[in-house]
Amino acid sequence: MSRVYNFSAGPSMLPEEVLEQAGKEILDYKGSGQSVMEMSHRSKVFVEIFEETKADFKALLNVPDTHEVLFLQGGASGQFAAVPMNLIGVSGKADYAITGNFANLAYKEAKKFSGNINVAASSADANHTFIPAQSDLKFTPDASYFYYCANNTIYGTEWQYTPETGNVPLVSDMSSNIMSHPVDVGKYGVIFAGAQKNMAPAGVTVVIIRKDLAGHALPDTPVVFDYATMIDKDSMYNTPPCWCIYILGKVLKWVQSNGGVAGMEELKTLRSGLVYDYLDNSKLFKAPAQKGSRSGMNVTFVTGNEDLDKRFASEAAKKGLINLAGHRNVGGMRASMYNAMPVEGAKALVEFMKE
Ligand code: PMP
Repeated sequence: MSRVYNFSAGPSMLPEEVLEQAGKEILDYKGSGQSVMEMSHRSKVFVEIFEETKADFKALLNVPDTHEVLFLQGGASGQFAAVPMNLIGVSGKADYAITGNFANLAYKEAKKFSGNINVAASSADANHTFIPAQSDLKFTPDASYFYYCANNTIYGTEWQYTPETGNVPLVSDMSSNIMSHPVDVGKYGVIFAGAQKNMAPAGVTVVIIRKDLAGHALPDTPVVFDYATMIDKDSMYNTPPCWCIYILGKVLKWVQSNGGVAGMEELKTLRSGLVYDYLDNSKLFKAPAQKGSRSGMNVTFVTGNEDLDKRFASEAAKKGLINLAGHRNVGGMRASMYNAMPVEGAKALVEFMKE
């Protein structure tokens, strides 16, 4: 068997030991005589998995008691709608920082629910190569919330600071950098993330919600997207994505045994640093994202020659470095290096770039 270094933007690599353990338990989870895929979500054995996973998640991200953690379905894209449906009712106004494709999709979704969605900042004119400074954010004083995407998966930029919004609840899409560094969760109203990059297989969406913000959903909000119902039912109003939650639990144990989120941050800095250092000294490759805004998860780069970029990705794949082509909207190359990417993968990429 030879495993590849998968630089996909997501779904992405999972720790090998997690896959091995799941393999061992595939027919008989801990003497239950069944796979986790087969068991009732109401069974004692699954509820134990669920509760332990939630407790580990809270411990790793230091989630305060003011907040609840939900394991939902519908992806991060579902949350683009759930956020306004649950929060916009306060004043009918919200502010969005448009720093990339997914922030823009969230902004467009929010406009379906209110005519008063404002652009607090946009990097569109500079092809989303930078993150705006705090002093460039334009706030609506009575906004129901301020929204930003913490890591722009396609453009390879990442917020290096937490926006200060005063009393306005802060909402963040952390799909592509959750669990990759410590976060002061208490500062946030809502954090959400599709888990398929840093934490689990595709299918579970994690939502962290300040409990006092729930309970104001628009009357037409579908019940599966109503935070108050999901808090009340502990994410089990309907069947949760059981298998994904089980793998999430195993990944969280792996994060714990590798230094927690601080350990993940060290690895992230090491991997991305290796690639950025090489890019900064290369005559052939360039990194479009501006220094100070660069992502530690998704490193984007170009040669300036589209044919050569395509050839780079296809030749790399032959060497077991797969999915290095940039997103179809922007071209070039992108190396997504999430939590489970070994440092050796980053080293192998740099060696291939040298070649
Ligand atoms: N937000 C970000 C930052 C993403 O990278 C993605 C997916 N690549 C999404 C949202 C959409 O996530 P999903 O496919 O889970 O809806």
